[in-house]
Amino acid sequence: MSLSELDNAEAFALQRAEMVERQLRARHIRDPRVLRAMGALPRELFVPPELRSRAYEDNALPLAHGATISQPYVVAAMTEALQLSGLERVLEIGTGSGYQTALLAELAAEVYSLELEPELARSASELLERMHYQNVQIKTGDGRSGWPQPAAVPFDALLCAAATPEAPASWLLQLRDGARAVVPIGSGAGQQLRLLEKHRGRWRRKDLFPVRFVPLR
Ligand code: SAH
Repeated sequence: MSLSELDNAEAFALQRAEMVERQLRARHIRDPRVLRAMGALPRELFVPPELRSRAYEDNALPLAHGATISQPYVVAAMTEALQLSGLERVLEIGTGSGYQTALLAELAAEVYSLELEPELARSASELLERMHYQNVQIKTGDGRSGWPQPAAVPFDALLCAAATPEAPASWLLQLRDGARAVVPIGSGAGQQLRLLEKHRGRWRRKDLFPVRFVPLR
């Protein structure tokens, strides 16, 4: 690393620590594993180069192809709601930048992530490989059908980063009993982040807070 790169890395580390205090702890994110992982994960690597200086802002940022990297607080709240212990196999829908994917890889055993847009799937895969994540599989595909290979099923948790009027039936089928899913439900401005738990083959639902995600296409 050059001196200016070292300076940059230090500046980002400061911004990251501040993000954890002001955006997460102050808003009652409590899971120590989530706080630790988000305090270590370099979010600046996941945003487009020209937006790098804004990586730790308290909002979502645009990616290519109409995708967005979610606001740090929303990423933290969704991840915390899954109550991951480290042993889980997680299905993610909407890889986007791969930031949420990397966080899940830090907090669970295995992550399977589906992204509709081939270029986003490719750049996220390359980045996570460069970062030496070995417990992540990213595929291009329509997340509404679930993971295409039955060998990976069932999942212990699911996180969807795009809004849908309701959770597709395939997700219910691919989760084990007792599994949790966090999904933005609704369309346009009328979305709620919903926590779903599979019990005896059906969803138990709890609405968490209003959100604004790009639609699941
Ligand atoms: N978690 C991501 C956010 C990505 S935004 C991040 O932190 O960067 C939502 C993503 O869902 C977009 O990349 C979009 O291309 C993708 N998407 C939309 N519809 C989809 C579908 N049917 N299947 C898989 N991915 C989809």
